[in-house]
Amino acid sequence: EAPTPGETHSGFVAIVGKPNVGKSTLLNAFLNTKVAPTSPRPQTTRRGVRGIHSTDTHQIVFVDTPGLHKPKDALGKYMNQEVHSALSDVDVILWVVDLRHPPTDEDQLVARQVRELPKPLFLIGNKTDAAKYPGEAMKLYRALLEGRTAETQETMLSAQNSPDAVGTLREQILDALPENPFFYPRGAASDQSREQWAAEIIREEAMKKLRDELPYAVATRVNRWTEREDGLQRIEGEIVVEKNAHKGMVIGAGGKQLREIGQAARKQLEVFLNRKVFLGLEVIVIPGWREDEEALRELGYE
Ligand code: GDP
Ligand code: MG
Repeated sequence: EAPTPGETHSGFVAIVGKPNVGKSTLLNAFLNTKVAPTSPRPQTTRRGVRGIHSTDTHQIVFVDTPGLHKPKDALGKYMNQEVHSALSDVDVILWVVDLRHPPTDEDQLVARQVRELPKPLFLIGNKTDAAKYPGEAMKLYRALLEGRTAETQETMLSAQNSPDAVGTLREQILDALPENPFFYPRGAASDQSREQWAAEIIREEAMKKLRDELPYAVATRVNRWTEREDGLQRIEGEIVVEKNAHKGMVIGAGGKQLREIGQAARKQLEVFLNRKVFLGLEVIVIPGWREDEEALRELGYE
């Protein structure tokens, strides 16, 4: 019983900002459930979906924008192009800044990316609980958007400590969504198993690291997920490659690359789950898995 198109508003919302400003914390605060999505309509890209919030008539699909995450990516033309194309696909942009500090070069880069985009933008001054001069800082961030003509709103809040302000902001975002049919089933937050969701996060981190070496030849799955009494989540996953030669490339010299992939994925899982995570990762070879229907099914590609 999907709502009739025309009565619904739905859209992709990007949360951008330099590292550590509180993007993930804010996303968690937005989502009623800590466990992310989903079961997308086939034509919707899976990549980067971080969470979905639906009401009877409105649906926000929160997406990740590659490139604004890592400081080293926050430089250069390449990043500019990548972020630009990611942002051109979304309907609403949330730019999160840290009000404890004045803007840095990285904030300026972000501002330059979002300033000219003709879509609703929310400037979100975060960490008001810990900021000495939030109002002054906000002025400086606002100034970076000078000359912007498209719809711009702003909020100051604490993603950590002000659920009411986060709720109000979420309402404002719902109001900014274009008229669209829902992109995902209304109950989407639970349609994907937590194992599939975690496997997707692992895959994304692996892809980031392996970008130039073997794009697309990597699949991931989570085989076991147990919870210890103290709350620790023990997750065991596999990175699946097609060839023995690829195995070494994923693992890296002395296991360094695999460790880095594991650490990055674990951090993301911990933020989203709000729990300590132990992540065990293994690299296995399934020759030609991309052509093998049974292997594809096993890996969750129906
Ligand atoms: P991201 O890199 O932008 O996703 O930032 P995170 O959400 O991972 O948060 C970075 C750090 O800022 C974490 O240590 C959070 O606990 C902290 N943080 C996030 N929001 C707030 C807030 O509203 N107030 C304070 N004091 N700290 C916050
Ligand atoms: Mg984050």
